[in-house]
Amino acid sequence: MNGLKITASLSQLINPMQFYSMQNSQGGLPHLNYICKKVESSINIMRALSGVRWGSHPYSQKILYNAIVRSHFDYGCFLLEPCQKLALCKLDKLQSRCLRIVTGARKSSPINALQVECAEPPLHLRRQYLSDRYLCNVLQISTHPLLEKLRILSELVRNSAYWNHKVPPALIKSLNKLFNLPTIHQTGKNPIFEINYKSLIYQPKILLNTGIDGNTTNANEKFNNILTQNWNEWLHIFTDASKLSDDSNVGSAVWIPKYKILLNFKCPPQASVYIGEIIAILEAILYAEYHKLNKCIIFTDSLSCLQDIQKLPFHSRYNFYITLQTKDALARCASAGIELILAWIPGHRGIIGNETADLFAKEATQNGSLSYYRCYPRDLRTLARPQIYKSWDFLWQQSRTVKGIYYGNLQPDIPRKPWFFRQRNMNKFITSIIIRLRLGHVNTPVFLAKLRIRDNSLCECGLEDGTVEHIFFRCLNIQNLNSTR
Ligand SMILES: [Zn+2]
Repeated sequence: MNGLKITASLSQLINPMQFYSMQNSQGGLPHLNYICKKVESSINIMRALSGVRWGSHPYSQKILYNAIVRSHFDYGCFLLEPCQKLALCKLDKLQSRCLRIVTGARKSSPINALQVECAEPPLHLRRQYLSDRYLCNVLQISTHPLLEKLRILSELVRNSAYWNHKVPPALIKSLNKLFNLPTIHQTGKNPIFEINYKSLIYQPKILLNTGIDGNTTNANEKFNNILTQNWNEWLHIFTDASKLSDDSNVGSAVWIPKYKILLNFKCPPQASVYIGEIIAILEAILYAEYHKLNKCIIFTDSLSCLQDIQKLPFHSRYNFYITLQTKDALARCASAGIELILAWIPGHRGIIGNETADLFAKEATQNGSLSYYRCYPRDLRTLARPQIYKSWDFLWQQSRTVKGIYYGNLQPDIPRKPWFFRQRNMNKFITSIIIRLRLGHVNTPVFLAKLRIRDNSLCECGLEDGTVEHIFFRCLNIQNLNSTR
Protein backbone atom coordinates (compact mmCIF):
# COMPACT_ATOMS: atom_id res chain seq x y z
CA MET A 1 0.00 0.00 0.00
CA ASN A 2 2.91 2.31 0.83
CA GLY A 3 4.42 1.83 -2.58
CA LEU A 4 1.20 2.41 -4.47
CA LYS A 5 0.52 5.74 -2.82
CA ILE A 6 4.01 7.05 -3.36
CA THR A 7 4.11 5.93 -6.97
CA ALA A 8 0.79 7.55 -7.72
CA SER A 9 1.87 10.89 -6.29
CA LEU A 10 5.23 10.80 -8.09
CA SER A 11 3.73 9.67 -11.37
CA GLN A 12 1.34 12.58 -11.38
CA LEU A 13 4.19 15.04 -11.45
CA ILE A 14 4.81 16.60 -14.84
CA ASN A 15 8.36 17.44 -13.97
CA PRO A 16 10.07 15.56 -11.13
CA MET A 17 12.30 18.59 -10.60
CA GLN A 18 9.21 20.50 -9.48
CA PHE A 19 8.72 18.04 -6.65
CA TYR A 20 12.15 18.52 -5.16
CA SER A 21 12.33 22.28 -5.69
CA MET A 22 8.89 22.63 -4.09
CA GLN A 23 10.09 20.57 -1.16
CA ASN A 24 13.27 22.57 -0.84
CA SER A 25 11.51 25.90 -0.82
CA GLN A 26 9.59 24.89 2.30
CA GLY A 27 12.38 22.70 3.59
CA GLY A 28 9.93 19.88 4.15
CA LEU A 29 9.24 21.48 7.54
CA PRO A 30 5.41 21.33 7.60
CA HIS A 31 5.44 17.62 6.81
CA LEU A 32 8.15 16.83 9.34
CA ASN A 33 6.37 18.87 12.00
CA TYR A 34 3.28 16.81 11.27
CA ILE A 35 5.24 13.56 11.71
CA CYS A 36 6.78 14.80 14.97
CA LYS A 37 3.35 15.65 16.33
CA LYS A 38 2.04 12.23 15.36
CA VAL A 39 5.01 10.45 16.92
CA GLU A 40 4.76 12.40 20.15
CA SER A 41 1.63 10.56 21.27
CA SER A 42 3.23 7.18 20.47
CA ILE A 43 6.24 8.14 22.58
CA ASN A 44 3.89 8.89 25.46
CA ILE A 45 2.59 5.32 25.21
CA MET A 46 6.16 4.03 25.45
CA ARG A 47 6.84 6.27 28.46
CA ALA A 48 3.74 5.02 30.22
CA LEU A 49 4.92 1.43 29.86
CA SER A 50 8.36 1.65 31.44
CA GLY A 51 10.76 3.82 33.35
CA VAL A 52 14.42 3.30 34.21
CA ARG A 53 13.69 0.94 37.11
CA TRP A 54 10.31 -0.50 36.27
CA GLY A 55 8.03 -1.59 33.47
CA SER A 56 8.17 -3.68 30.35
CA HIS A 57 11.31 -5.38 29.07
CA PRO A 58 13.48 -3.49 26.52
CA TYR A 59 12.66 -6.26 24.00
CA SER A 60 8.94 -5.45 24.13
CA GLN A 61 9.68 -1.73 24.08
CA LYS A 62 11.90 -2.10 21.00
CA ILE A 63 9.18 -4.06 19.19
CA LEU A 64 6.68 -1.38 20.22
CA TYR A 65 9.05 1.33 18.94
CA ASN A 66 9.28 -0.43 15.55
CA ALA A 67 5.50 -0.68 15.36
CA ILE A 68 4.20 2.65 16.57
CA VAL A 69 7.08 5.10 16.10
CA ARG A 70 9.44 3.87 13.40
CA SER A 71 6.55 3.15 11.04
CA HIS A 72 5.77 6.90 11.02
CA PHE A 73 9.42 7.74 10.31
CA ASP A 74 9.48 5.14 7.53
CA TYR A 75 6.39 6.03 5.56
CA GLY A 76 7.51 7.62 2.29
CA CYS A 77 10.59 8.93 4.14
CA PHE A 78 13.04 8.51 1.27
CA LEU A 79 11.10 11.07 -0.76
CA LEU A 80 11.84 13.72 1.87
CA GLU A 81 15.52 14.05 1.15
CA PRO A 82 16.99 16.45 0.21
CA CYS A 83 15.31 18.91 2.55
CA GLN A 84 16.23 21.22 5.41
CA LYS A 85 18.76 19.50 7.65
CA LEU A 86 17.30 21.15 10.71
CA ALA A 87 13.94 19.56 10.01
CA LEU A 88 15.45 16.09 9.72
CA CYS A 89 17.36 16.66 12.98
CA LYS A 90 14.00 16.78 14.73
CA LEU A 91 13.36 13.20 13.67
CA ASP A 92 16.85 12.13 14.81
CA LYS A 93 16.19 13.65 18.22
CA LEU A 94 12.91 11.79 18.51
CA GLN A 95 14.65 8.54 17.59
CA SER A 96 17.26 8.95 20.32
CA ARG A 97 14.55 9.87 22.81
CA CYS A 98 12.78 6.59 22.02
CA LEU A 99 15.99 4.57 22.28
CA ARG A 100 16.59 6.11 25.71
CA ILE A 101 13.13 5.01 26.83
CA VAL A 102 13.79 1.50 25.45
CA THR A 103 17.14 1.09 27.19
CA GLY A 104 16.71 3.26 30.28
CA ALA A 105 19.97 4.99 29.36
CA ARG A 106 20.94 8.39 30.76
CA LYS A 107 20.19 11.54 28.80
CA SER A 108 23.93 12.16 28.41
CA SER A 109 24.57 8.79 26.69
CA PRO A 110 26.17 9.17 23.22
CA ILE A 111 23.60 8.65 20.46
CA ASN A 112 25.88 6.67 18.16
CA ALA A 113 26.54 4.16 20.97
CA LEU A 114 22.85 4.02 21.87
CA GLN A 115 21.97 3.15 18.26
CA VAL A 116 24.52 0.32 18.22
CA GLU A 117 23.30 -0.98 21.60
CA CYS A 118 19.75 -1.18 20.21
CA ALA A 119 20.92 -2.37 16.74
CA GLU A 120 18.88 0.49 15.32
CA PRO A 121 20.62 2.30 12.42
CA PRO A 122 20.66 6.11 12.09
CA LEU A 123 17.56 7.37 10.27
CA HIS A 124 19.40 8.69 7.18
CA LEU A 125 20.82 5.20 6.53
CA ARG A 126 17.40 3.66 7.03
CA ARG A 127 15.91 6.08 4.50
CA GLN A 128 18.49 4.96 1.93
CA TYR A 129 17.82 1.30 2.77
CA LEU A 130 14.06 1.70 2.28
CA SER A 131 14.68 3.58 -0.95
CA ASP A 132 16.91 0.74 -2.26
CA ARG A 133 14.29 -1.85 -1.43
CA TYR A 134 11.48 0.19 -2.93
CA LEU A 135 13.38 0.71 -6.18
CA CYS A 136 14.01 -3.05 -6.45
CA ASN A 137 10.27 -3.68 -6.14
CA VAL A 138 9.62 -1.12 -8.87
CA LEU A 139 12.33 -2.56 -11.12
CA GLN A 140 10.57 -5.90 -11.31
CA ILE A 141 8.07 -4.49 -13.81
CA SER A 142 9.56 -2.86 -16.92
CA THR A 143 6.47 -0.74 -17.61
CA HIS A 144 6.32 0.77 -14.12
CA PRO A 145 5.52 4.50 -14.49
CA LEU A 146 8.10 5.55 -11.89
CA LEU A 147 11.02 4.22 -13.95
CA GLU A 148 10.53 6.80 -16.72
CA LYS A 149 10.19 9.63 -14.15
CA LEU A 150 13.38 8.49 -12.44
CA ARG A 151 15.23 8.43 -15.75
CA ILE A 152 14.26 12.08 -16.35
CA LEU A 153 15.20 13.08 -12.80
CA SER A 154 18.49 11.24 -13.03
CA GLU A 155 19.39 13.17 -16.21
CA LEU A 156 18.44 16.44 -14.54
CA VAL A 157 20.60 15.65 -11.53
CA ARG A 158 23.52 14.83 -13.81
CA ASN A 159 23.22 17.85 -16.11
CA SER A 160 21.70 20.69 -14.14
CA ALA A 161 23.85 23.18 -12.22
CA TYR A 162 21.19 23.24 -9.50
CA TRP A 163 22.27 19.80 -8.28
CA ASN A 164 26.03 20.42 -8.46
CA HIS A 165 26.43 21.16 -4.77
CA LYS A 166 23.47 19.19 -3.48
CA VAL A 167 23.06 15.66 -2.24
CA PRO A 168 20.93 13.82 -4.84
CA PRO A 169 17.56 12.31 -3.83
CA ALA A 170 17.70 8.88 -2.19
CA LEU A 171 15.99 7.19 -5.13
CA ILE A 172 18.64 8.54 -7.52
CA LYS A 173 21.37 7.22 -5.22
CA SER A 174 19.62 3.84 -5.29
CA LEU A 175 19.42 4.00 -9.08
CA ASN A 176 23.14 4.80 -9.34
CA LYS A 177 23.96 1.66 -7.36
CA LEU A 178 22.43 -0.41 -10.16
CA PHE A 179 24.87 0.84 -12.80
CA ASN A 180 27.58 -1.66 -13.79
CA LEU A 181 25.34 -4.58 -12.85
CA PRO A 182 24.59 -7.37 -15.32
CA THR A 183 21.20 -7.20 -17.08
CA ILE A 184 18.30 -7.03 -14.66
CA HIS A 185 15.47 -9.45 -15.29
CA GLN A 186 12.15 -7.65 -15.70
CA THR A 187 8.65 -8.68 -16.64
CA GLY A 188 6.11 -6.61 -18.57
CA LYS A 189 3.53 -6.92 -15.82
CA ASN A 190 3.24 -8.49 -12.38
CA PRO A 191 4.64 -12.04 -12.88
CA ILE A 192 1.47 -13.53 -11.45
CA PHE A 193 -0.48 -12.31 -14.50
CA GLU A 194 1.98 -13.85 -16.94
CA ILE A 195 1.26 -17.42 -15.84
CA ASN A 196 -1.87 -19.46 -16.51
CA TYR A 197 -4.23 -19.46 -13.50
CA LYS A 198 -4.50 -23.26 -13.57
CA SER A 199 -0.71 -23.49 -13.17
CA LEU A 200 -0.80 -21.05 -10.26
CA ILE A 201 -3.15 -23.24 -8.25
CA TYR A 202 -1.62 -26.55 -9.40
CA GLN A 203 -0.37 -28.63 -6.46
CA PRO A 204 2.64 -30.71 -7.56
CA LYS A 205 3.74 -33.87 -5.76
CA ILE A 206 6.41 -32.80 -3.29
CA LEU A 207 8.07 -35.03 -0.71
CA LEU A 208 9.56 -33.06 2.14
CA ASN A 209 10.36 -36.17 4.15
CA THR A 210 12.00 -39.09 2.38
CA GLY A 211 12.95 -40.79 5.64
CA ILE A 212 16.43 -39.23 5.76
CA ASP A 213 17.18 -36.06 7.69
CA GLY A 214 20.22 -34.07 8.68
CA ASN A 215 21.02 -36.39 11.61
CA THR A 216 20.81 -39.71 9.76
CA THR A 217 24.02 -41.73 9.88
CA ASN A 218 25.02 -43.80 6.82
CA ALA A 219 22.73 -41.52 4.81
CA ASN A 220 23.97 -42.79 1.43
CA GLU A 221 23.28 -46.47 2.25
CA LYS A 222 19.84 -45.71 3.65
CA PHE A 223 19.07 -43.44 0.70
CA ASN A 224 19.97 -46.23 -1.78
CA ASN A 225 17.70 -48.65 0.12
CA ILE A 226 14.81 -46.18 -0.03
CA LEU A 227 15.45 -45.65 -3.76
CA THR A 228 15.34 -49.37 -4.55
CA GLN A 229 12.29 -49.92 -2.36
CA ASN A 230 10.17 -47.04 -3.61
CA TRP A 231 11.48 -45.59 -6.85
CA ASN A 232 13.52 -48.30 -8.51
CA GLU A 233 11.78 -47.85 -11.86
CA TRP A 234 11.98 -44.07 -11.73
CA LEU A 235 14.61 -41.81 -13.28
CA HIS A 236 16.66 -40.12 -10.54
CA ILE A 237 17.71 -36.52 -11.10
CA PHE A 238 19.85 -34.54 -8.64
CA THR A 239 20.01 -30.75 -8.53
CA ASP A 240 22.18 -28.40 -6.49
CA ALA A 241 23.53 -24.86 -6.41
CA SER A 242 26.66 -23.40 -4.93
CA LYS A 243 28.32 -20.08 -4.16
CA LEU A 244 31.96 -20.21 -3.11
CA SER A 245 32.28 -16.68 -1.69
CA ASP A 246 30.39 -13.38 -1.65
CA ASP A 247 32.10 -12.27 -4.87
CA SER A 248 31.83 -15.54 -6.76
CA ASN A 249 29.20 -16.47 -9.32
CA VAL A 250 26.38 -18.78 -8.30
CA GLY A 251 26.61 -22.13 -10.04
CA SER A 252 23.74 -24.54 -10.46
CA ALA A 253 23.79 -28.08 -11.78
CA VAL A 254 21.39 -30.82 -12.84
CA TRP A 255 22.89 -34.31 -12.75
CA ILE A 256 21.24 -37.46 -14.17
CA PRO A 257 23.50 -40.34 -13.09
CA LYS A 258 21.78 -43.00 -15.26
CA TYR A 259 22.60 -41.24 -18.56
CA LYS A 260 25.62 -39.31 -17.22
CA ILE A 261 23.94 -36.09 -18.30
CA LEU A 262 24.97 -32.78 -16.78
CA LEU A 263 23.32 -29.38 -17.24
CA ASN A 264 25.05 -26.42 -15.64
CA PHE A 265 24.37 -22.69 -15.38
CA LYS A 266 25.87 -19.71 -13.71
CA CYS A 267 24.35 -16.53 -12.27
CA PRO A 268 26.16 -13.28 -11.36
CA PRO A 269 27.60 -12.73 -7.84
CA GLN A 270 24.58 -10.58 -6.92
CA ALA A 271 22.38 -13.67 -7.19
CA SER A 272 21.53 -15.81 -4.16
CA VAL A 273 21.96 -19.56 -3.77
CA TYR A 274 18.15 -19.76 -3.68
CA ILE A 275 18.00 -18.52 -7.30
CA GLY A 276 20.62 -21.11 -8.28
CA GLU A 277 18.62 -23.90 -6.63
CA ILE A 278 15.33 -22.93 -8.24
CA ILE A 279 16.96 -22.58 -11.68
CA ALA A 280 18.37 -26.11 -11.33
CA ILE A 281 14.94 -27.50 -10.38
CA LEU A 282 13.27 -25.65 -13.28
CA GLU A 283 15.85 -26.92 -15.78
CA ALA A 284 15.46 -30.51 -14.52
CA ILE A 285 11.69 -30.27 -15.06
CA LEU A 286 12.12 -28.69 -18.52
CA TYR A 287 14.55 -31.48 -19.47
CA ALA A 288 12.03 -34.14 -18.40
CA GLU A 289 9.28 -32.33 -20.29
CA TYR A 290 11.31 -31.89 -23.49
CA HIS A 291 12.45 -35.53 -23.60
CA LYS A 292 9.07 -36.81 -22.34
CA LEU A 293 10.79 -38.70 -19.52
CA ASN A 294 7.91 -40.21 -17.58
CA LYS A 295 8.38 -41.10 -13.89
CA CYS A 296 11.17 -38.77 -12.81
CA ILE A 297 12.07 -37.98 -9.24
CA ILE A 298 14.05 -34.78 -8.72
CA PHE A 299 16.14 -34.58 -5.54
CA THR A 300 17.17 -31.21 -4.16
CA ASP A 301 18.61 -30.11 -0.82
CA SER A 302 16.80 -26.78 -0.86
CA LEU A 303 13.83 -26.99 1.47
CA SER A 304 12.85 -23.33 0.96
CA CYS A 305 12.52 -23.78 -2.83
CA LEU A 306 10.21 -26.78 -2.41
CA GLN A 307 8.14 -25.00 0.22
CA ASP A 308 7.78 -21.97 -2.07
CA ILE A 309 6.67 -24.17 -4.98
CA GLN A 310 4.12 -25.77 -2.69
CA LYS A 311 2.62 -22.47 -1.52
CA LEU A 312 -0.11 -20.62 -3.35
CA PRO A 313 1.65 -17.67 -4.98
CA PHE A 314 -0.93 -14.99 -4.25
CA HIS A 315 1.20 -13.37 -1.57
CA SER A 316 3.79 -11.04 -3.12
CA ARG A 317 6.57 -12.81 -1.17
CA TYR A 318 6.01 -16.05 -3.06
CA ASN A 319 5.33 -14.84 -6.59
CA PHE A 320 8.92 -14.89 -7.76
CA TYR A 321 9.07 -15.25 -11.52
CA ILE A 322 11.20 -18.43 -11.73
CA THR A 323 9.20 -20.18 -8.98
CA LEU A 324 6.05 -19.42 -10.98
CA GLN A 325 7.69 -20.73 -14.16
CA THR A 326 8.58 -23.90 -12.26
CA LYS A 327 4.96 -24.29 -11.19
CA ASP A 328 3.88 -23.72 -14.80
CA ALA A 329 6.32 -26.35 -16.12
CA LEU A 330 5.10 -28.85 -13.49
CA ALA A 331 1.47 -28.23 -14.47
CA ARG A 332 2.34 -28.70 -18.17
CA CYS A 333 4.09 -32.00 -17.39
CA ALA A 334 1.05 -33.18 -15.42
CA SER A 335 -1.33 -32.40 -18.26
CA ALA A 336 1.03 -34.15 -20.73
CA GLY A 337 0.90 -37.27 -18.53
CA ILE A 338 4.50 -37.00 -17.33
CA GLU A 339 4.72 -38.09 -13.71
CA LEU A 340 7.15 -36.00 -11.67
CA ILE A 341 8.03 -35.90 -7.98
CA LEU A 342 10.16 -33.29 -6.23
CA ALA A 343 11.86 -34.60 -3.11
CA TRP A 344 14.01 -33.08 -0.41
CA ILE A 345 17.20 -34.76 0.81
CA PRO A 346 19.69 -33.26 3.29
CA GLY A 347 22.79 -31.67 1.74
CA HIS A 348 26.39 -32.61 2.63
CA ARG A 349 25.43 -35.94 4.22
CA GLY A 350 27.41 -38.10 1.81
CA ILE A 351 24.55 -39.02 -0.55
CA ILE A 352 26.56 -39.67 -3.71
CA GLY A 353 24.08 -38.18 -6.22
CA ASN A 354 23.79 -34.99 -4.18
CA GLU A 355 27.54 -34.74 -3.60
CA THR A 356 28.20 -35.11 -7.35
CA ALA A 357 25.61 -32.42 -8.15
CA ASP A 358 27.28 -30.18 -5.53
CA LEU A 359 30.68 -30.72 -7.16
CA PHE A 360 29.29 -29.87 -10.59
CA ALA A 361 27.55 -26.79 -9.16
CA LYS A 362 30.90 -25.61 -7.77
CA GLU A 363 32.47 -26.08 -11.22
CA ALA A 364 29.52 -24.28 -12.82
CA THR A 365 30.43 -21.07 -10.92
CA GLN A 366 33.27 -20.85 -13.50
CA ASN A 367 32.14 -22.62 -16.64
CA GLY A 368 28.33 -22.77 -16.39
CA SER A 369 26.11 -21.74 -19.28
CA LEU A 370 25.17 -18.04 -19.42
CA SER A 371 21.47 -18.49 -20.20
CA TYR A 372 20.45 -17.33 -16.71
CA TYR A 373 23.27 -14.81 -16.22
CA ARG A 374 21.22 -11.84 -15.02
CA CYS A 375 20.23 -10.13 -11.78
CA TYR A 376 16.83 -10.68 -10.28
CA PRO A 377 15.25 -7.73 -8.40
CA ARG A 378 14.35 -10.14 -5.58
CA ASP A 379 18.07 -10.72 -4.93
CA LEU A 380 18.98 -7.07 -5.33
CA ARG A 381 16.40 -6.27 -2.66
CA THR A 382 18.07 -8.63 -0.20
CA LEU A 383 21.41 -6.89 -0.89
CA ALA A 384 20.03 -3.70 0.68
CA ARG A 385 20.44 -5.13 4.20
CA PRO A 386 24.17 -5.94 3.99
CA GLN A 387 24.66 -2.53 2.36
CA ILE A 388 23.05 -0.62 5.22
CA TYR A 389 25.21 -2.52 7.73
CA LYS A 390 28.31 -1.79 5.66
CA SER A 391 27.63 1.97 5.58
CA TRP A 392 26.67 1.95 9.26
CA ASP A 393 29.80 0.05 10.21
CA PHE A 394 31.91 2.57 8.27
CA LEU A 395 30.17 5.41 10.15
CA TRP A 396 30.55 3.65 13.53
CA GLN A 397 34.25 2.94 13.07
CA GLN A 398 34.81 6.67 12.44
CA SER A 399 32.48 8.09 15.09
CA ARG A 400 33.48 5.73 17.91
CA THR A 401 36.93 7.33 18.03
CA VAL A 402 35.31 10.70 18.80
CA LYS A 403 32.04 9.95 20.61
CA GLY A 404 31.14 6.90 22.66
CA ILE A 405 34.82 5.87 22.96
CA TYR A 406 34.27 3.75 26.09
CA TYR A 407 31.38 1.85 24.52
CA GLY A 408 33.25 1.64 21.19
CA ASN A 409 36.04 -0.33 22.85
CA LEU A 410 33.51 -2.73 24.36
CA GLN A 411 31.49 -3.14 21.17
CA PRO A 412 33.65 -2.55 18.09
CA ASP A 413 31.21 -4.36 15.75
CA ILE A 414 27.55 -3.71 15.15
CA PRO A 415 25.42 -6.58 16.42
CA ARG A 416 22.56 -7.83 14.23
CA LYS A 417 20.30 -8.00 17.29
CA PRO A 418 20.61 -6.27 20.69
CA TRP A 419 21.99 -8.51 23.47
CA PHE A 420 18.87 -7.96 25.61
CA PHE A 421 16.75 -9.75 22.98
CA ARG A 422 18.29 -13.00 24.27
CA GLN A 423 17.83 -12.11 27.97
CA ARG A 424 14.10 -11.78 28.19
CA ASN A 425 13.78 -13.04 31.77
CA MET A 426 15.82 -10.14 33.21
CA ASN A 427 13.76 -7.28 34.60
CA LYS A 428 13.91 -3.72 33.37
CA PHE A 429 16.00 -2.46 36.32
CA ILE A 430 18.80 -4.97 35.72
CA THR A 431 18.88 -4.43 31.93
CA SER A 432 18.95 -0.66 32.48
CA ILE A 433 21.91 -0.97 34.85
CA ILE A 434 23.81 -3.26 32.46
CA ILE A 435 23.14 -0.96 29.50
CA ARG A 436 24.26 2.09 31.52
CA LEU A 437 27.42 0.23 32.58
CA ARG A 438 28.15 -0.69 28.96
CA LEU A 439 27.58 2.86 27.78
CA GLY A 440 29.83 4.18 30.56
CA HIS A 441 27.13 6.60 31.68
CA VAL A 442 26.20 5.18 35.07
CA ASN A 443 25.72 6.91 38.43
CA THR A 444 29.21 6.32 39.84
CA PRO A 445 30.82 9.07 41.98
CA VAL A 446 33.29 9.83 39.16
CA PHE A 447 30.51 10.25 36.59
CA LEU A 448 28.30 12.31 38.94
CA ALA A 449 31.26 14.59 39.72
CA LYS A 450 31.78 15.04 35.99
CA LEU A 451 28.18 16.23 35.69
CA ARG A 452 28.76 18.45 38.77
CA ILE A 453 26.04 16.65 40.68
CA ARG A 454 28.70 15.74 43.31
CA ASP A 455 31.53 17.92 44.62
CA ASN A 456 34.24 15.27 44.31
CA SER A 457 34.83 12.00 42.55
CA LEU A 458 35.96 10.12 45.71
CA CYS A 459 34.07 6.96 46.59
CA GLU A 460 32.17 6.92 49.88
CA CYS A 461 34.73 4.46 51.32
CA GLY A 462 37.24 7.30 50.92
CA LEU A 463 39.99 5.11 49.43
CA GLU A 464 40.06 6.22 45.82
CA ASP A 465 37.97 7.52 42.89
CA GLY A 466 34.61 5.80 42.60
CA THR A 467 35.03 4.23 39.17
CA VAL A 468 33.10 1.15 38.00
CA GLU A 469 36.23 -0.97 38.54
CA HIS A 470 36.66 0.35 42.08
CA ILE A 471 33.03 -0.35 43.04
CA PHE A 472 33.06 -3.85 41.55
CA PHE A 473 36.47 -5.07 42.73
CA ARG A 474 38.09 -2.86 45.37
CA CYS A 475 35.45 -0.91 47.30
CA LEU A 476 35.64 -1.66 51.04
CA ASN A 477 32.05 -0.57 51.66
CA ILE A 478 30.72 -3.14 49.20
CA GLN A 479 33.08 -5.86 50.53
CA ASN A 480 31.93 -5.21 54.10
CA LEU A 481 28.32 -5.27 52.98
CA ASN A 482 28.87 -8.66 51.33
CA SER A 483 30.63 -10.16 54.36
CA THR A 484 27.87 -9.07 56.77
CA ARG A 485 25.31 -10.85 54.54
ZN1 LIG B 1 34.67 2.58 47.55
